[in-house]
Amino acid sequence: MTRLTLLVALCALALAAQSSQASRWSQPFPPHKIVGNVYYVGSNELASFLIATPAGHILINTGFEETVPVVRAGCEKLGFKLSDVKILLTGQAHNDHVAGFALMRKLTGAKVMVMAGDDAVVRGGGKGDFAYESQMRWAPCPVDRVLQDGDQVTLGSTTLVARLTPGHTRGCTTWLLTAVEDGKPFHVVIVGSVHVNSEFRLVNNAKYPRIAEDFARTFQVLESLPCDVFLGSHGGAYGMQAKYQRSLKEGYRAFVDPQGYRAYLAAGKAAYLKELEKQRGR
Ligand SMILES: [Zn+2]
Repeated sequence: MTRLTLLVALCALALAAQSSQASRWSQPFPPHKIVGNVYYVGSNELASFLIATPAGHILINTGFEETVPVVRAGCEKLGFKLSDVKILLTGQAHNDHVAGFALMRKLTGAKVMVMAGDDAVVRGGGKGDFAYESQMRWAPCPVDRVLQDGDQVTLGSTTLVARLTPGHTRGCTTWLLTAVEDGKPFHVVIVGSVHVNSEFRLVNNAKYPRIAEDFARTFQVLESLPCDVFLGSHGGAYGMQAKYQRSLKEGYRAFVDPQGYRAYLAAGKAAYLKELEKQRGR
């Protein structure tokens, strides 16, 4: 094989892997209420959250383009209209969470708000990502508002706070809000990600020199947050399927899991430190 044919073959392989993952992770899952005005409208694996307000809705994550019909069906099954989605947010600018942004923006007319650092990747459809630029590309989507750490996003009577938790992506974002249930407030933390993917270079990363420091700071920020209900970009990150099953009997209480949040952070930090040691030793 010439180098060019090899490159073409590798790209085709990467694309095929991407599309089979997209269909594996875009299977329907019962949409459900989590707590207060927070609902799950994602697929079997890719988490999308609808924050419903009388002034319209906020949607966090769309999944792949293939996942958008699942998200739409989820909203409608819960009695919400997709056209009432006014704001579109994400936890991280990887294709499995934002490749459906352009389509969703077209369907809803929602304002797209993305953290600085991830904004260029969303605008470029994957261009500029420090790890996957050459393998993962998707439909570019305009960004209507670029967010900074601590910025608030308000719709109706609901306010979300955007915390910059970088490392997994440069603008990886953790969303905070207070949901009210039984007259009591619950701290909801929707983690962007703390996962060190196998492709990430933590040491001597020319495209993202501060990656290791960013991960360390992210753990500090997340550890400092009060958390009752812990959610993430992947259902698997917070035990979505098991919690959903329990919620059929227990309601929102199935999602109240402060210990699960601490355990998730501890496991993520241990994995990060182990990988850092390994890469430093090379
Ligand atoms: Zn990711």
